[in-house]
Amino acid sequence: MVVVMKKGAAEGDIQHVIDFIHQFGLKTHLSKGRERTIIGVIGEKSKLEKDQISVLRGVSKVYNILQPFKLVSREFQSENSVIQVNDVAIGGGTPVIFAGPCSVENERQILDTAWMVKEFGAKILRGGAFKPRTSPYSFQGLGLEGLKLLKKAREETGLSIVTEVMDPADVELISEYADILQVGSRSMQNFNLLKAVGRTRKPVLLKRGMSATLTELLMSAEYIMSEGNPNIILCERGIRTFVEYSRNTLDLNIVPAVQKISHLPIIVDPSHGTGRSDLVAPLSLAAIAVGADGLMVEVHPKPELALSDANQSLNAEQFGELMRKVIQLIGWRKMHAESHVTV
Ligand code: PEP
Ligand code: MN
Repeated sequence: MVVVMKKGAAEGDIQHVIDFIHQFGLKTHLSKGRERTIIGVIGEKSKLEKDQISVLRGVSKVYNILQPFKLVSREFQSENSVIQVNDVAIGGGTPVIFAGPCSVENERQILDTAWMVKEFGAKILRGGAFKPRTSPYSFQGLGLEGLKLLKKAREETGLSIVTEVMDPADVELISEYADILQVGSRSMQNFNLLKAVGRTRKPVLLKRGMSATLTELLMSAEYIMSEGNPNIILCERGIRTFVEYSRNTLDLNIVPAVQKISHLPIIVDPSHGTGRSDLVAPLSLAAIAVGADGLMVEVHPKPELALSDANQSLNAEQFGELMRKVIQLIGWRKMHAESHVTV
């Protein structure tokens, strides 16, 4: 249920509505927009009738959100959420590029990659320290040592860091090192992990499960937001289909589909989405063209030596070439958006 307050409603009236709802054992989520304040009611809706709230002072209207996800829906918040990560805004109209190796391997590798991706225009450095690998015999990541190397890369280059958290018990530790907590595809429905990252206020990069529907993705985001953390960035990273020529099928349909029904930003990972370095550039451009709020691209100084995801990693030259096109396309997209408004 959503309570829309009247324009300019008094603080005291807003607080009274919140206190009233809490009496019924329900939680609230406050959203202060430019125009109005909206209060989301979280919990079993049978506990409270709409009419009990609509009579309170300062209330404009009360309505039920029909979709199963509430706080993340556009019905709840019509304006786009813009997630601020240090000096970078994600979802604010300019696509943001996340780039870096699949895994942090050693100091030289991560520092060289960080400087290189920064030079070409990336704003966020990615790198796995705790790696979810299909085989227990594959490289599992450097763990804490990897986090320390990421911190060093941030200190030297000023790039913000995104790295994966797999275990709720690691959330606190990884939060000390990362600017964005990544919840990987395999963890999208690890509800204890979602609640744990939801209890922080760190931005969360929530990757779509490889067979998750749009509703399931948004329900996972709802878990995070219902714990109090509104800083969520969604990520399309390809789904499992019958095709055999690529690792996954990048579902670009989901970008405008999400943007229609949710206010959260969505970025695209064409590296895991294709699994092939030769497909990364065309799909990156397609993602920007379709309206993605950013890209996450795997880059390695020597892809042939990468300890994970060698086949899908771009080298410096390939990444530089891609970035030149991406920057042009971003310029075109902005021009188009502006001309659209004036038509
Ligand atoms: C990753 O981005 O490091 C990763 C493991 O991707 P995914 O969770 O999408 O497989
Ligand atoms: Mn990878």
